[in-house]
Amino acid sequence: MKRIAFFCIPAHGHTNPMLAVAAELVRRGNTVRFYSFAPFAEKIRAVGAEYVSCDAFLAPLSEQAETRLKRVSVTEMTVQDLRITLAMNDFLEKEFREFCPDAVFSDSACFWGKLNAWKHGVPLVVSTSTFAFNQLSSQYIKHSLRETADMVFGLGRVGKELKKLEPYGYRVKSVLRLVTNDNQTDTIVYTSRRFQPYAASFSDRCLFVGPSLLTQAVPNKQKARPLVYISMGTVLHDRPALYRSCIEALGDQNLDVVISCGTAIAPESLGILPDNIRVFPRVDQPEVLSRADVFLTHCGMNSVSESLRMATPMLLYPQTGEQHAVARRAFELGAGAYLTDDSASGIRTAVWNILNDPQYTAAAKICSDDLRACSGAAGAAEFIETAPHPDCPDPLRAFNRSCGTYQLLYWLCTALLILLLGTYGWLVGIAAGVLHHPFQKAVQHHLCRSLFPESP
Ligand code: UDP
Repeated sequence: MKRIAFFCIPAHGHTNPMLAVAAELVRRGNTVRFYSFAPFAEKIRAVGAEYVSCDAFLAPLSEQAETRLKRVSVTEMTVQDLRITLAMNDFLEKEFREFCPDAVFSDSACFWGKLNAWKHGVPLVVSTSTFAFNQLSSQYIKHSLRETADMVFGLGRVGKELKKLEPYGYRVKSVLRLVTNDNQTDTIVYTSRRFQPYAASFSDRCLFVGPSLLTQAVPNKQKARPLVYISMGTVLHDRPALYRSCIEALGDQNLDVVISCGTAIAPESLGILPDNIRVFPRVDQPEVLSRADVFLTHCGMNSVSESLRMATPMLLYPQTGEQHAVARRAFELGAGAYLTDDSASGIRTAVWNILNDPQYTAAAKICSDDLRACSGAAGAAEFIETAPHPDCPDPLRAFNRSCGTYQLLYWLCTALLILLLGTYGWLVGIAAGVLHHPFQKAVQHHLCRSLFPESP
C-alpha cells in the first residue's frame, strides 16, 4: 500500500480527471493526500482522499494580473504558478518530510507538484488534462497574435521568477522543461492513442488511459426528441450574448436544450425562457452528455473527451489556441463541425445540420467505442502504483537526429554554392535563408510520414 501525494491547480478541468484516479487508488488500499483548494474540498473528500488546503498560498492578485488571467495569458499563469511554488516552499518541505510520499501525481500545469517531486527525489507521474504536447503535437496549437506576443514578451518575467526559485533547491533550465511532455517522464493522458495527435512520437512512459470519469452514465439516446447541450466550460463561460443567441435560435424548435451558463452570470438574467430550454449554473455534464445529441462546446479537452465517450457529436466553438487544437482533432475524426456563424440563425442551421447528418453520430460512436476500450482510471492507478517506470526507447530521438542531418546538408550545400558562385554568392545566401523554413517543414512532414505512418 502506498502513500501518494496529488497536486493540482485550482481548475475544474484539471482536477476532475484526477478525482476518478484518486478514487481508484483509495479503493485499492492506498493513501491519497490531495493538495488542492476550497472549491474542490468536498469532491476530494467524497472519493476517500485526504484533502489538504493550499488556499493560504494564493496571494491576492493585482487588477492587472486578474485581467490577464481572465484573458488566459500563459505568461501570467506561469508567473503565478511559480510564485505559488515559492510561497509553498516551507509548507511542502514539512509535508514531504512528514507524509513521505512514495509517489507524486501532479497536474502538468501545477509546477509546485512537479518541482517538489524533483527536489525531494520522489517518483513523479504527470497528469495531463489536455493532449500530450511535444514538438510535433504542439503544431496543432495555432496561437493568435495576442497569445504569441504574450508568450514572447513574457519570457523575461518568467525567467526572473524561475531564478527566484533557485536558492530553494528548484533547478529548472528552462520553462519549456516544465510545460512540455518529454519521453522520460511518467505521464498519464486522458485520451486514446487514436485521438492524440502524433501518438507514435511518445514513448511507453506516456500512458493514454482515455477519459477518467466518476460517472456511471453510459450513452443512451432513446427519447422523444433531440437534446442539445450547450456549455463554454468553467473558465471562459461568461458569455451572456452567446447564450441569448442560442435561446433565440432554438427556442421554437422541436428539440430540448440544456445550457450550463457557469457561475459568473445568473440564469434569470437571460430573460424568460421558452418551455424547451433550461439553464443551470452547473450540471452533471457527463450525465447530460450521455443523453445529448449535439454538444455546442468551447472544446476544452475534458468536455470533448466526455462528449466523445458519450457518443455525442459536437458543434465546435474553440476560443483559445489549445481549444483550437482539440477542435481540429475532433473535426479530423468527423465527430464535429465548426460553428462559423454564432448568430441565432447560424446556430440554428449548424445544430440541425449535425442532427440531420448521421455521419457525425457514426463518427462519434467510433470515438466512443475507442475511448471506452481504454484502461481509464484503473489503468492510471496501476501506472502510478508501479512508478517509476524504466527508461524506454524514445521515438523522437530518431526524428530529431534525421532532422539534424537534413539541416546540416542544407547549410553545407548552401555554403558550397556561395563559394562556387563567388560575387553572386550572397544571392544564394538570401534565397537559402528565405527557403529554410518551408524546407524544414517539408523535411519534418516527410520524416513524420516515414517514422510515424499513422500521423495525421
Ligand atoms: N463541467 C461540469 N458541469 C458543467 C460544466 C462543466 O461538470 O456544468 C465539467 C466538465 O464535465 C469538465 C470540466 O468541467 O470535466 C470542464 O473542463 P474542460 O477541460 O472541458 O474546460 P475548462 O473548464 O477547463 O475550460
